[in-house]
Amino acid sequence: MENKSIDYDAMGDTEFRAALRTWLEDVYPENWKQTPRRPLLRIRGKDARAWIKMLCEGGWRCPAWPKEYGGMELSFKKQIIYHEELERIRAGRIIDGGEQMIGPTLMAYGTDEQKRKYIEPTRTGEYLWAQGYSEPGAGSDLASLRTKAELEGDHYRINGHKIWTSHADECSHMYALVRTTVSEKKQVGITFILIDMETPGISVRPIKTVAGEDELCEVFLDDVMVPKENVVGEPDNGWTIAKALLGYERVWIGNPGPAARYLDLACELIMKDETDSSLKDELAKTICDMHDFRVLYETMCHSISPDSEIGPEFSILKIISADMLRDISELNARASGQYSQLDSDVEIDGALTNIGWQFFTARAQAIFAGSNEIQRNIVAKRVLNL
Ligand SMILES: Cc1cc2nc3c(=O)[nH]c(=O)nc-3n(C[C@H](O)[C@H](O)[C@H](O)COP(=O)(O)OP(=O)(O)OC[C@H]3O[C@@H](n4cnc5c(N)ncnc54)[C@H](O)[C@@H]3O)c2cc1C
Repeated sequence: MENKSIDYDAMGDTEFRAALRTWLEDVYPENWKQTPRRPLLRIRGKDARAWIKMLCEGGWRCPAWPKEYGGMELSFKKQIIYHEELERIRAGRIIDGGEQMIGPTLMAYGTDEQKRKYIEPTRTGEYLWAQGYSEPGAGSDLASLRTKAELEGDHYRINGHKIWTSHADECSHMYALVRTTVSEKKQVGITFILIDMETPGISVRPIKTVAGEDELCEVFLDDVMVPKENVVGEPDNGWTIAKALLGYERVWIGNPGPAARYLDLACELIMKDETDSSLKDELAKTICDMHDFRVLYETMCHSISPDSEIGPEFSILKIISADMLRDISELNARASGQYSQLDSDVEIDGALTNIGWQFFTARAQAIFAGSNEIQRNIVAKRVLNL
């Protein structure tokens, strides 16, 4: 499993950047690049698997994972370079909850058997993971979840309904929170379990987003039998694991990349002689804010040590990234003048854009992975002790 193809440690930062840039320029397909029209383009389904396979074959998969799990185990400086180069080539995003969330969670909390069974296929993209947390009555108040799991012999019988499950129709597996015991304290009695999406009794129904994408799903579980060895950690004690995983998610979602893509579009729309000077002033301020955000992100991520949990202060990154996306999408709408009301493709001075799409897509960032209001509550209570 160990990744021995390239000795990254022996490379200086400049050499590392050049090697990755050359590889990306050679292999990265044009049709998977983000464009002004789709600044947050996602690579989906079989394309996502194909891209992960290319990364594996090139020796560029899982930059933060330890080498013993086939990762690159890069220094933090090299991880930043890695992401800068993907941004530079405008690589599409993939929903890779496997690399970013369940992989690190299993490394920390999984049994030896779970590590053996799930980590390598997650690295190679054979397994893609959906997150089965939210339910119709349990979003911000996640601990109210009611999907029930009852132990029958060696299996849990699971019945319930998950919602807003990103890309569930393309994923092979789902990590989910289920209720195994009803107790006075809602957080007690929740179990974290791994579910193969091919198990009989699972049906998935896509939901269109306000931007017209079919990325969200409902997942119905009717008498789904899941082996008890698929529980991660102790039964009834899944809340601790769920919270740890959300920490990894906040670091991933709080990165400045998406807002930077929106800023590229703002530069394209605003940096012209004839543009109103108030828009130019606002753009200049936003470019400075983006610089500060990058420095903050790098400083905070630099403080993460392999043995410690991600602290509540990381909520700040998610709040800033969502606020910046919202503000820049509004700036782009204002800068596109008469086209700002259109919810369709439009060419502005040679650039093909979709102002409605980028405006609506930016909204999601303030909701998923715990809404910005909830993140602010976390910062108020757990960081500022208010
Ligand atoms: C694009 C997208 C992708 C998603 N992907 C997934 C996924 O893959 N898996 C998954 O499990 N879930 C996913 N979600 C669901 C997401 O986590 C929930 O939407 C989110 O947690 C909010 O829950 P809710 O929608 O039930 O809203 P509610 O909890 O009903 O909140 C409604 C509003 O009230 C506010 N509010 C609620 N409680 C408080 C409070 N105590 N203090 C202040 N304000 C409060 C909220 O901030 C929000 O503005 C996704 C959502 C989106 C938009």
